[in-house]
Amino acid sequence: MAKKQFKAESKRLLDLMIHSIYTNREIFLRELISNASDALDKLHYLSLTDEAVRAKCGELHIFISPDKEARTLTITDNGIGMTAEELEHNLGTIAKSGSLQFKESIDTSDEEAVSNIIGQFGVGFYSAFMVSDEVTVRTRSTITDEANCWTSTGADGYTIKPCDKETYGTDIILKLKADTEQDSYSEYLEPYRLQHLIKTYSDYIRYPIRMELEKTRTVGEGEDQKTETYKEVETVNSMVPIWKRAKNEVSEEECRAYYKQKFFDSADPLYTIRISTEGVVSYQAMLFVPARAPYDFYTKDFKKGLQLYSSGVLIMEQCADLLPDHFRFVRGIVDSQDLSLNISREMLQQDHQLKAIAQNIEKKILSELKKGLANDRETYEKFFDAFGLQLKYGVVSDYGMHKDKLKDLLLFYSASQQKRITLEEYITAMPEDQKYIYYACGETVQKIGALPQAELVKDKGYDMLCLTDEVDEFVMQMLGEISGKTARSIKDDNAELQSDDTKEKIETAAEENKELLAFLKETLGERVHDVKLSQKLKSHPVCLSATGGITFEMEKYFAAMPGNEMKPKAQRVLELNAEHPVFEALKRAYASDRERAKTLGEILYDQALLIADLPLDDPAHYTELVCSLMQ
Ligand code: ADP
Repeated sequence: MAKKQFKAESKRLLDLMIHSIYTNREIFLRELISNASDALDKLHYLSLTDEAVRAKCGELHIFISPDKEARTLTITDNGIGMTAEELEHNLGTIAKSGSLQFKESIDTSDEEAVSNIIGQFGVGFYSAFMVSDEVTVRTRSTITDEANCWTSTGADGYTIKPCDKETYGTDIILKLKADTEQDSYSEYLEPYRLQHLIKTYSDYIRYPIRMELEKTRTVGEGEDQKTETYKEVETVNSMVPIWKRAKNEVSEEECRAYYKQKFFDSADPLYTIRISTEGVVSYQAMLFVPARAPYDFYTKDFKKGLQLYSSGVLIMEQCADLLPDHFRFVRGIVDSQDLSLNISREMLQQDHQLKAIAQNIEKKILSELKKGLANDRETYEKFFDAFGLQLKYGVVSDYGMHKDKLKDLLLFYSASQQKRITLEEYITAMPEDQKYIYYACGETVQKIGALPQAELVKDKGYDMLCLTDEVDEFVMQMLGEISGKTARSIKDDNAELQSDDTKEKIETAAEENKELLAFLKETLGERVHDVKLSQKLKSHPVCLSATGGITFEMEKYFAAMPGNEMKPKAQRVLELNAEHPVFEALKRAYASDRERAKTLGEILYDQALLIADLPLDDPAHYTELVCSLMQ
């Protein structure tokens, strides 16, 4: 019979599996057991409504049998089985979902890349080729009764032919690879090793996983007493779902292993949250905060939700109503005996129990994150790197409805402490005379530090939060008052950074130079809303500030948004430093040479734009002006 070829992408993945140096090969067993368990689930589900199927069902179980002589390991289930067509479809193509982002070539010696693929795309069945030279699938469909045999030695394709099989379900027969100096495959023939793997990875599987194990017993009496070995079939797994087991019975390690397998992640979760409550609502939950955001997390393709069980039976794969948007990164399982098994999706949304559970879950996540923040900053920062942005979106969404609960979870970069701190930490460190929480927005911390206005803050001994995310400015505005303090941008007119003395001095100077300022305003025309003497400059000659509610960061934010409609713009105010020698030069020019004063005014405006990290209206004109002064 002619060999059939795997689909192109599958072939590449297969190559990868076979040749990878992936050290975590042992996971093949849990993958195959998980498939077997799914096949049992499907049969169980069908049997609920189909009597003919029910008649064919025995007691559902999985059987693992190593054969040292034949060097094979067989995983048997009496589940739903597959027809020839299903064999072709299911085992001839990998990742039918199309989620396989296989465009870039992957370096197979890069363990991280390989394990990522194995994790993210659940290449399940194919992991068998990491330990086998040949894989045979003998399967009999419970639906059509036909039995077929699929065989493959890997990348060169596979064959499918009819066969005889008495029992329903599937046998996966692995012909294990020969041992090499570095690698032992024989270990997968050792019952105790297999038992250990099952316990580690598949303990919670709902069906018994059985093995024939060697036991010893003492027989005879007195001098005739001796030990003999015998074989007995035993159920290896405890069958209790991991989230139903008592907290102190499940190690953190087990939870992590479970997460990685269940949610196809190769990285440990940052936090594991376990809930078990009884009372108004009774439920158990096992929740995880992943270490990194999925590639589509910040897109509309990402779907939030928790798996929902009713007394151990899955009723909904992804229940979105259980998670508020600001915690949409959380993954996990919720199991409640209070929910009806047959509840429809529409009914679920109305369900009071479900609402109560969702509220409770939100509270719990919040308190765990706060605990994480207080107890282990390093881990929390990793969390914040991955999902901090989501929390900020949470603050500004729904008209600020969630800001109070989320504000304590935020971190911002502190200019004086040179690390990220919370708002509360900022406030605690404020000197007594400091009235406001100062912040500045910009592209990078460096650029913010170089802002002319930053000097005054530093001179006063105040700290400043450097905000580098686009949404940050909105977050600050939304937060309003924080523990009795309001936040002010150092670029704000009312930043109040000068002493009363200096303030007065500047006001007097402004009065004296009224005409000059009006002249500059006229010169710059529509480009500026106003020209004035600054209260926030020290060594820099100029800066630009915004008035009227729209800040420069907002302007940039709107400009970057798609769409051609009129984008809101910040109203620009050119601020001059009255103490700076340049201002003296300007004054002299104004008195003696109006053209020169015009040129200086225009150059200063463009310089202010540059410092504010805003594009020049006409860069060529700016250069011309500078050159004209040089000549
Ligand atoms: P996944 O389990 O993620 O869908 P796999 O490559 O592990 O991917 O399996 C592909 C498909 O093959 C499964 O979705 C299932 O339909 C089928 N399959 C695998 N193992 C079995 C089995 N023991 N019994 C019935 N069907 C199976």
